Amino acid sequence: CGIVGYIGPQSVVPVIIEGLRRLEYRGYDSAGIAVAGGPSGLELRRAPGKLRNLENVIRDSPIDGTFGIGHTRWATHGRPTEENAHPHRDGSGTLVVVHNGIVENYLALKKELIAKGHKFVSETDTEIIAHLIQDAYENGEPQVIGHGRAQTASPYAASESANESEAVVTTLHPDGSRPTMSLEEAVRRAVKRITGAFAIGVLSALEPNKLVAARMGPPAVIGIGEGEFFLASDVPGILHHTRNIHFLADGEVAILTKEGVTLTDFQGAALPLKVQRITWDP
Ligand code: GLU
Repeated sequence: CGIVGYIGPQSVVPVIIEGLRRLEYRGYDSAGIAVAGGPSGLELRRAPGKLRNLENVIRDSPIDGTFGIGHTRWATHGRPTEENAHPHRDGSGTLVVVHNGIVENYLALKKELIAKGHKFVSETDTEIIAHLIQDAYENGEPQVIGHGRAQTASPYAASESANESEAVVTTLHPDGSRPTMSLEEAVRRAVKRITGAFAIGVLSALEPNKLVAARMGPPAVIGIGEGEFFLASDVPGILHHTRNIHFLADGEVAILTKEGVTLTDFQGAALPLKVQRITWDP
């Protein structure tokens, strides 16, 4: 229900918890956070009930990192337990996903992924998204890089327009080591298979200081600070940090790194950021 993501020099956990608190008015039944880039890699903390419960878990078992995402959940699929709280991991524990909305075709996707050997640990529709992304990220047909253009050979890769885009050109791991494509390309391939509504935030331990967000339905906003970048499900979660906001449109994928924010459509074609200055207060 509430999403907050952060990359920047500030202490990541307090920025995310405070942002989630400012989104509490949306209602929720459990909360969780994932941070990466710290001494112990990708770390996850989740708790049913109020944000205070999550804060207690973090106090007893502290986490630190250079980028992260948090979520307050309003359960649609699966009880409000710790296991069903977001973020959700993929099977290999490499990447995590937070999600607002509903994956309507999750049973069909789950069946397909189980047949491929994926194992699920929650009752949520959201966990499917993490596995779908992993499936592309680690096992998909790699991008072919050449002359500043990328070509895709995946059955999920869509139109010719992807071949024309500069935006999909990203690091290819040449010796066949994992992953086979960038996180944003894996996200683009995954979201094209989802029927339903989603605003998602994704991070991978293998790609430090990068957050990927995508939207189809529920709102999501990107905050452009000075040397720091934010993702949120709504403006009040980050407005105390920056008033420069891009409202993610349906069909957009945002890639947040330490250097800035880039935007593409689900095919990988570059889109312009439309940053608005928010002058009102929540
Ligand atoms: N459908 C997801 C779940 O039940 C997301 C709920 C939400 O929007 O918070 O976990």
